[in-house]
Amino acid sequence: MIYFIGAGPGDPDLITVKGKKLIDEADVIIYAGSLVNPDVLKGAKPSAVIHNSAYMNLDEVIDVIKESTDKGLRVVRVHTGDPAIYGAIREQMDRLDELGIGFEVVPGVSSFLATAAVLKKEYTLPDVSQTVIITRMEGRTPMPPKEKLADLARHNSTMVIFLSIGFIEELCSTLIEGGYDPKTPVAVVYKATWPDQKVLRGDLTDIAEKVKDAKIEKTALTVVGGFLGDEYGLSKLYDKNFSTGYRKGQ
Ligand code: SAH
Repeated sequence: MIYFIGAGPGDPDLITVKGKKLIDEADVIIYAGSLVNPDVLKGAKPSAVIHNSAYMNLDEVIDVIKESTDKGLRVVRVHTGDPAIYGAIREQMDRLDELGIGFEVVPGVSSFLATAAVLKKEYTLPDVSQTVIITRMEGRTPMPPKEKLADLARHNSTMVIFLSIGFIEELCSTLIEGGYDPKTPVAVVYKATWPDQKVLRGDLTDIAEKVKDAKIEKTALTVVGGFLGDEYGLSKLYDKNFSTGYRKGQ
């Protein structure tokens, strides 16, 4: 049995209690060193063998898991944020299935949720947007033809764009082309919850320049939409005139 663990966005206190316990008990730790804060491994046993998967390919990761589980060792595979979001976890799970190695997934706080917390905003505001689109720009991984950014932009929903800070100019022009008002507010959060976190705010016309000036080139999320503004409807859930399953309206 091995555990895939979401390490959270950066702050080592933002891992789940379950994830931390498993790391602290592990004999073998494989972690995504390019993004996982090494401080989440601080409680590991001194005897734990630690592998940084930034230097490994899929075969090498699977080999370490297989050799270790064959010896009866406790193995954890630590991913940044939550492994279900751009985590390349599925290909590993499928290989483990083929090998008959059992696994469990322990979720984590994705950076897109940490970003909302840093910004002190809610992605789903009544009368603004009730939909969050998580996407990216095309890089080495191609975008499916029905998911072109300009098409997704047409909804004017809340949008969270991963892995794309290097293409911020093209990102903004495509979103405008797709139908967002050029004055739509945008925030860029670099290394949310890390000590060197940075937050930039602007709109689709000026954020790219701010990103260039701040020399932000990686590990950042771009969030777009009216949810960053101050106009919205109040919720029905807490409306004093409405009854809910728990509370009678006045
Ligand atoms: N599974 C991760 C995402 C991995 S893809 C998660 O759930 O967050 C890597 C991309 O995630 C980065 O290029 C960046 O766009 C984003 N990212 C990861 N950690 C971040 C952080 N602390 N702050 C801002 N963006 C982050």
